Amino acid sequence: MTANTGTSGENLMGNGGKTHEPSTPTSDTEVASGTPTELSEIFFVDNSRRKQSIKIQVKLCPEGVYLRRETEEDDHINEQLIRIDDIIGSRYGRRLKKRARGGLNSCRNPNVPGQEADSEPDSDNSAYLYIYAYLKKEKPLRRVQTLRILRFRSSNDYGVNLQTAEMWHHTIRKHKRGNGSSSPADCGKQLLILLNPKSGSGKGRELFQKQVAPLLTEAEVQYDLQITTHPQYAKEFVRTRRDLLTRYSGIVVASGDGLFYEVLNGLMERMDWRRACRELPLGIIPCGSGNGLAKSVAHHCNEPYEPKPILHATLTCMAGKSTPMDVVRVELATRDKHFVMYSFLSVGWGLIADIDIESERLRSIGAQRFTLWAIKRLIGLRSYKGRVSYLLGKGKKEPPVEAARELPAESTAAGIRSSLPLNAGEFHDLPEEEEGEAVLDGEQFADAISLDRSVYRQHADSWHSAMSRRTAYYSLGGPSMRSNRSRMSISQRIEAANAEFAERVPTGTIPPLQMPLLSSDGWICEDGDFVMVHAAYTTHLSSDVFFAPESRLDDGLIYLVIIRRGVSRHQLLNFMLNLNAGTHLPIGEDPFIKVVPCRAFRIEPSSSDGILVVDGERVEYGPIQAEVMPGLINVMTTSGQ
Ligand code: ADP
Ligand code: MG
Repeated sequence: MTANTGTSGENLMGNGGKTHEPSTPTSDTEVASGTPTELSEIFFVDNSRRKQSIKIQVKLCPEGVYLRRETEEDDHINEQLIRIDDIIGSRYGRRLKKRARGGLNSCRNPNVPGQEADSEPDSDNSAYLYIYAYLKKEKPLRRVQTLRILRFRSSNDYGVNLQTAEMWHHTIRKHKRGNGSSSPADCGKQLLILLNPKSGSGKGRELFQKQVAPLLTEAEVQYDLQITTHPQYAKEFVRTRRDLLTRYSGIVVASGDGLFYEVLNGLMERMDWRRACRELPLGIIPCGSGNGLAKSVAHHCNEPYEPKPILHATLTCMAGKSTPMDVVRVELATRDKHFVMYSFLSVGWGLIADIDIESERLRSIGAQRFTLWAIKRLIGLRSYKGRVSYLLGKGKKEPPVEAARELPAESTAAGIRSSLPLNAGEFHDLPEEEEGEAVLDGEQFADAISLDRSVYRQHADSWHSAMSRRTAYYSLGGPSMRSNRSRMSISQRIEAANAEFAERVPTGTIPPLQMPLLSSDGWICEDGDFVMVHAAYTTHLSSDVFFAPESRLDDGLIYLVIIRRGVSRHQLLNFMLNLNAGTHLPIGEDPFIKVVPCRAFRIEPSSSDGILVVDGERVEYGPIQAEVMPGLINVMTTSGQ
C-alpha cells in the first residue's frame, strides 16, 4: 500500500502492544472542551510484497490529516495531506462490514489477523476510525472518494481503544467547525431535504438512496426527508411551517430547478421571509432535467459537476458553507391580473424560450430535441415587435425617492388594490405575537395613503393586497414603537409604517408595471423587432448552457442579452453552437447582439402571441418586468462568502 493511493480504503494499524513499539497519542494543546488540537500516532501497514511493514505517522491538526510515510530501505519520505475541507466526517467503533463502509475495499492482507474479521468482530479488541474524504483534484477537476481506516489497538481493552478513536473523531469535528463551516451535523438542527420523486427520469428516490443518503450518513447529518406528493407541496411546506427556522439548519432541494423555484417562492411568502432567506441556506442536488442552478453553483465554487453531479452537489451541500445569491423579483401583468414571482435563473422572450417550450413535444427523444428544434427555428426565424427597457447595473444607484411624486394617482393603494387578487384564506400563518396588534383601521389607512406626502411608491406583492389581513403590517410596528406612536405626526407615522412594511413584505423599488419608465430615473428604452431578449442572473441556464459567463452569484446584476432582427442565420447558428462553451457573445460592439448588465428591465411585447419563460417555465404572455434583489438568499457552497 502507499499513502497516496486515492480510491481505495486503507487500513492503518495503530500500535499493537507486542508487535510494535508502543506509542501513545500525543495531544499538544488540550483545550477546555477536552478535545486536543493536535493528535499524532504511528501506524503500521504490512506490505507482504516487500516483506516489511511500512511505518506511517498520522497527524491530525486543524489543516487536516497528514500521513507521513517512512520506509526502512530508503530515507524517502512521502507525505499526504487530507485537507479538513475534504473530509466530510468520520465514524468510530468496531470494524464495519464492508457494505456499511460504502463499498470500499480495505487493503486485504492475509498475514494480518483481524483484517477479515467481519464474521468474528468480538475477537478483535481494536477500535476503528473511518475517515471519509473526497479529495479535490485538478486537471481534470474531480473529487476522489477516499477512505482511511485507522485501527487503534494499543490496549487489550476495547474500551480504551475506543476512547482513543473517539477522541480522534471529535477532534476532526472540532477542526471542521473551526474551519468556518457550520456543518449541518453540528448545530443540533436538521437539514430539510425536499425530494421530487417525479423529477428528471423519475428516479429521484433511488438516486437519493444510492448516492445521497450514504454521504449524509458519513457526514452524520440529521435530516428530515420530505418527498413531495404533488406540485406546490414543497412551496406550501416551507411557506407554512412555523418551526422552519428553529427546526432546520438549511433546505436542500433534491430535484430540478422547478422545485427550487417552489421553495424560493414559498419562503418569500412567509411573514419572516427576510430572516428565513438570511438564516436558511439553500442547496440543490440535481436530480431533475433542468439543472441550471446546480451547475452554476458548481461553477461558482470551482467544484466538479460531471460525471457525478449528484455526488458533487451533495458534497457541496455538506460543506457547511454558504454564499449570498441574488434573487430577481419578477412582475407580470395579463389583462387585469398582476403576479409577482421570485426567480433565480432567467427570464426569456423569443428564440431560446420558443425552442425550450416548443420542443417539449419532442420530449421522447431526449436532449437532442433542443438541437433539432433550434435548427427548425433558425430556418423559420421569427422576430417579435416590442419595447425593452433597462436600468443599467453600473454604479448601482438607487432610484431617487422623489420619483414617487411623478407617479400618477393609480399607483396609490387603491389602484394597486384593484389590480391584486385577494386570497384571505392564505393568511393563517400570521405569527401569534403579532396578531391583533394595534393597526390603523381601514379608513385611516386610506387617508394616509392618499396623502400627498406619501412615499408609497413601492408596490405590494400579489398576496399582500392592501385589503388583506396582512395590511396589519402596513401599520406601526412592534412594542418598542408603540409608545412613540402617539408623539409622531401623521407623516412620520406613515414613513415609519412604510419602513416597517418594507421589512415585512418584499417590495419592488421600480415603478409598477402599469406605470411609465422615466429616462430621468435612468431608464433606457429600445423599441424594435427582436429575435430574442433573454435575461440570466446565474452563469448557467442548464448544465450545458453557459449563458452568462461573467455573472457572479451575488453581483447584483442581470445579464440581458438582446438580439435584434437583421442578425444573419450564420451569426445566430454560431451563437447557438457556442452556448455550451460560453463563447457565444460578441467580444466587441455588434450591431445585432448585445449584452447589457442591468439591475432591472421591462419587456413589453406589442403582440399578444408569444412565449415567455421564467426559470425555464412558461408564464402568461404579456408585459413583464424584473428587478434584482442583491444577495437575498444564501446558497450552499464549498467556498463560503
Ligand atoms: P425537472 O427538472 O425534471 O422538471 P423539477 O424539480 O423542475 O424537475 O420539477 C418539475 C415540476 O414538478 C415542478 O414544477 C414541481 O412543482 C412539480 N412537482 C413537484 N413534486 C411533484 C410530484 N410529487 N408529482 C408531480 N409533480 C411534482
Ligand atoms: Mg448574478
